[in-house]
Amino acid sequence: MATEKRDYYEVLGVDRAATKEQVKRAYRQLARRYHPDVNPDDPQAEERFKELAEAYSVLSDDQKRAHYDRFGHDGPPAMGMGDFGFGIEDLIQSFFGGGFGARSRQVQRGADLRADVRVTLEEVLTGCEKELSSRKLDYCDDCDGSGSRGGQDLGPCRTCGGAGQVGRTQNTLFGTFSSFSTCPACQGEGVEVKDPCPTCQGRGRLMQESVLTVNIPPGVDTGTRVRVAGQGEAGARGAPPGDLYLYITVADHDVFYRDGSELGIEVPITFSQAALGADIEVPTLEGKHKLTVPPGTQSGTRLRIRGQGLPSLRGGGRGDLHVFINVRTPTRLSARQRELLQELAAEDGDTAPEDAQKKPDSLLARAWQKLVGE
Ligand SMILES: [Zn+2]
Ligand SMILES: [Zn+2]
Repeated sequence: MATEKRDYYEVLGVDRAATKEQVKRAYRQLARRYHPDVNPDDPQAEERFKELAEAYSVLSDDQKRAHYDRFGHDGPPAMGMGDFGFGIEDLIQSFFGGGFGARSRQVQRGADLRADVRVTLEEVLTGCEKELSSRKLDYCDDCDGSGSRGGQDLGPCRTCGGAGQVGRTQNTLFGTFSSFSTCPACQGEGVEVKDPCPTCQGRGRLMQESVLTVNIPPGVDTGTRVRVAGQGEAGARGAPPGDLYLYITVADHDVFYRDGSELGIEVPITFSQAALGADIEVPTLEGKHKLTVPPGTQSGTRLRIRGQGLPSLRGGGRGDLHVFINVRTPTRLSARQRELLQELAAEDGDTAPEDAQKKPDSLLARAWQKLVGE
């Protein structure tokens, strides 16, 4: 193999003098985090999980561990060493339950949870962290989620003998009927903890308050669902946790319209700025941006500031900021303004602008055409 194998103690993050119990505890915690069920699309997690399983299979076995301590990875193969032909599944089974009797038990992940999160447009731009406090079934600290005092393993359920079902036989006039139902003691899982943890009564999980900081990526929109792996409810007796899904709502903004990664804003300018042209300042999500309004700009004209929109969830550059010009007709005039406008009026004469009968090529005209279906 080309890649250097990591030290087994390092993989599990334990001291060389760690007790068997510490090794087991470390493995249980890490395996839960890198469990393939929790990280279905992450090949790195899967690799890590296999690495953990291998390290644990050696360090949890006195003979293999002694051999490893003496020779490390490069020593002569010992009995059963160097051969990891056991399925990873076996190891998961032995940890997360199952493997008793003929019936193999389905490992039951914890339930998925949902949280609603409200963000501002500014937070959509940069991404943000949110603190969520919740009350949920979480792993019991006293037994580290295993459900058993001192971390002993599970045994077959004494009520159903590990079958997960209990049978009942009824004698009736028409003959003998047998019916099976889910075992009430183990809820069909077929196992029970040999020496239950007193804190959680062997369940491995408890209702607990927790505060969690979650990352909202840039570019989210209302309706976006963000998955936070492994932050759902704890699984029973050390089974992997469910996921937490954040449902995003983006608050309306006072100033900006939003469509995907595009932003829109309406900017008022004066009649003289529209006629003569002007350099104006346009608010953006981050501050202000200089924009040149060309001479002769009509109301409803759309100008574009590139790259001042929002990022996309899929990555790539930012969208644009579309500036809709609104030419304000002055309503309160100073004596001087009135005088100047009257001079202008005299210059304009009595006739309406020559293109008044034509549809002007403005954004509003196009919007109107769309509206009436022309
Ligand atoms: Zn417990
Ligand atoms: Zn049972």
